[in-house]
Amino acid sequence: MQKVDDWGILETSIAPFLIPIEKVAHVQPENSIEHALLVLVKSGYTSIPVLDTRFKLQGLISKAQILDSIIGLERIEPERLQEILVSSVMTTKIARVNSSEKLERVLSYSINHPFICVEDESGAFLGIITRSKLLAYLNGYFHEQKRRAKE
Ligand code: AMP
Repeated sequence: MQKVDDWGILETSIAPFLIPIEKVAHVQPENSIEHALLVLVKSGYTSIPVLDTRFKLQGLISKAQILDSIIGLERIEPERLQEILVSSVMTTKIARVNSSEKLERVLSYSINHPFICVEDESGAFLGIITRSKLLAYLNGYFHEQKRRAKE
């Protein structure tokens, strides 16, 4: 197997991978889960960040969590969608990193998370990094390494 001797890739800045906050679909804790479900379905995403009015990250909410919260004893209870708040359904277990982190940390988080949230020093939400973007970059990187090794 070809030896990869440029471990510097792990020290790469994560800035180029960031999907900035203005392009990130999100909801607020006090929104109804009906609103969150609409945003999730319309955007096509499985899970999105929950940000408060000061744009601080409070949680993540997914379609699966919403559906789970309206399952009654014998039937699905869609009428509850308007009553239940995002804050009572969201998870607060979040894969989050500081914007100064390097690729190495984000890569290891991405094993178990389809996206990682990025914050600045003051805890303000900056955006997300998706696993698919990381894989696309690594795919290009290793193909370039292979091409160079053949030169
Ligand atoms: P992707 O790798 O593009 O398929 O995205 C993986 C997951 O990251 C999606 O299912 C969403 O949960 C999240 N995601 C990606 N892009 C966005 C976005 N612009 N806004 C909110 N969540 C996103």
